[in-house]
Amino acid sequence: MARSGSSGLSKSLILKGLQCQKALWLAKHPPDFELPPQPDLQAKFVAGTEVGILAQQLFPDGIEVPYEGLSFPAQLARTKELIAGGTDVIYEASFSFSAIFVKVDLLVRDDQGDGWQIYEVKMGTGVKPVNLDDVAIQQYVLNGCGLSVSRSFLVHIDNRYLRQDALEVDKLFASEDISVKVAARQQSLPEIVRDFRQTMAEHQEPAIDIGPHCTDPYECDYIPYCWQHIPENSVFDLRGKGINKFDYYNQGLVKFADLPLDRLNKAQRQQVETTLKQQDLLDTNKVDEFIETLWYPLCHLDFESFNSPIPKFDDTRPYQQIPFQYSLHIQQSAGAEPQHFEYLAPPGVDPRRELSEQLLAVIPEGACVLTYNQAFEKGVLRNLAELFPDLAEAINLRLPNVRDLMTPFRRRDVYRWQMRGSYSIKEVLPAMVPELSYAGLEIADGMAAMQAYHEMCALDDPAMLAELRRAMLEYCRLDTLAMVRILAELRTIAPR
Ligand code: SF4
Repeated sequence: MARSGSSGLSKSLILKGLQCQKALWLAKHPPDFELPPQPDLQAKFVAGTEVGILAQQLFPDGIEVPYEGLSFPAQLARTKELIAGGTDVIYEASFSFSAIFVKVDLLVRDDQGDGWQIYEVKMGTGVKPVNLDDVAIQQYVLNGCGLSVSRSFLVHIDNRYLRQDALEVDKLFASEDISVKVAARQQSLPEIVRDFRQTMAEHQEPAIDIGPHCTDPYECDYIPYCWQHIPENSVFDLRGKGINKFDYYNQGLVKFADLPLDRLNKAQRQQVETTLKQQDLLDTNKVDEFIETLWYPLCHLDFESFNSPIPKFDDTRPYQQIPFQYSLHIQQSAGAEPQHFEYLAPPGVDPRRELSEQLLAVIPEGACVLTYNQAFEKGVLRNLAELFPDLAEAINLRLPNVRDLMTPFRRRDVYRWQMRGSYSIKEVLPAMVPELSYAGLEIADGMAAMQAYHEMCALDDPAMLAELRRAMLEYCRLDTLAMVRILAELRTIAPR
C-alpha cells in the first residue's frame, strides 16, 4: 500500500481534498476539538501492509525503498539511485514533484527499458473511482519527475480464488489496466492542486456544509466536529431506505418533531411517533405465536467469524467468513437455568473441523436452535456441511430446527422506543433487559471480536493471549445470555 507524506501536499491530502476541501483545510488547521480515537484503523493498516508485501511477489526480486528508518529526502535519493543503477522492479519507490510526495507500491520497468509501469495494490475486490484518483496523483508526480509512465494497473484481491494448499499469489491478485481512466483524471490535476493550495492557505475555515460527501468515498475523520449541530433523534437517525435525508436537512427539517410523517414509510413513521411519545408497541398475539414456534431443549446459539483478504486455510476464499468461536446456552424447559457451552479456536489453526465436532456433540438432535439473525448462523452451518461431507447429515438434521429470535423485533410485534428503529440485538438488549449490557466489555461487537481473533493469532505472550481469550469468551457468552434473557422477557410480556 502506498504511503505518502511531506510538509507539502501529500497524496492522502489531495484525496482528502477531492472528498471535501473543508477536510483538507482541517487537516492543516486542526480544530480545537477532541476527535474520538478510531480503533479499527490500526487493524486495517496491518491487513493492508500484509497484502502489499504479498503483492510484491508478483514481481519478485525487486528492491524496496523503506518508509521506516529513512527520511523523505533519503527515500527520494535511494529511488533515484536504484533507477539510475538499472533496477527493474522497485517496491515503494518514492518521488516528489511540486512538493507532493508519493510512494508507488510496485514500480516496474518496461521491457524496452524506456518507460515504467505503476502497480497500485489495494485490498478491495475491484477498482473504485478513488483508486483512479490515487494512481492519477502518482502518475502526475512521476511525470513531473521526468519518468515516462507507459501503463498503470490496479492490483486488487480476486475473490473467486479458492486456496488449496500453498497460496498462489498470481491467482489471489487480479491486475486491471486502468491507464486510460487514469490519464483522463490526470489532466485536471494541475488545476486541482493549485486550488487545494489556495484552500490550505486560507485563514478561514471553508464554509462547506455536511452532505453525502461526509461518508463517500470514506467516512470523514471530522464528522464528530462538523456534525455537532445535529441533535439527537434527527432525520439522520431514521432507519430504512426510501428517503433522501439530506433533502430534508437542506429544507431545515432535521428534528423528528419537524418531519412530515406522511412522507415517511410505515416503519419510519412508527420510529418517529414512538420516540416523540416515548411509547412502545406490542402485539401479544404475534409474540405469543412466535414463542409457540419454539420447543425444548432450546439451544441459544451464536457464532463469531473472521474474514481476511488473504485466505488463511485450504478450501477458503478471500473474505470468506470463517467461524472461530461459538457460545451456546441450552435450556431444558421454559425458564430453566441454562447450561453454557463454548468454543474458541486456538490461534493459527483452521478451526472449522473442531468447532463443528464440538458443536454437534453439544446440540442434541431434535433440539430447537435459536439464533439472532438466522441467515448468518444458517449460512455458517451450510458451509460446514458442504466442507465436511461426513458431518453433513448431522448438520442438516439440525438446520431445519433453527429459529430466529430477531423475528418479533424485525416485525415490530414488540418494539420499545429506546430501540431507535433498530432490531439489532445491540439495541434490543438494553431496551428489553436494561440490567444486562455490552457497555464496559473490552470486546463489545462482532467487528471487535474479529479484530481480537486476528490479534490473538499474532500474539505470543501467554499472559496477553489468556487475557484476550477471556475477553473474547466473555463477549460471545453475553450474546447468547442476552438471547436467554430477551426470550424470558418476551414470555413475561406475552404470557399465555
Ligand atoms: S465531516 Fe463532512 S463537511 Fe466536515 S470536513 Fe468531513 S466531509 Fe467535509
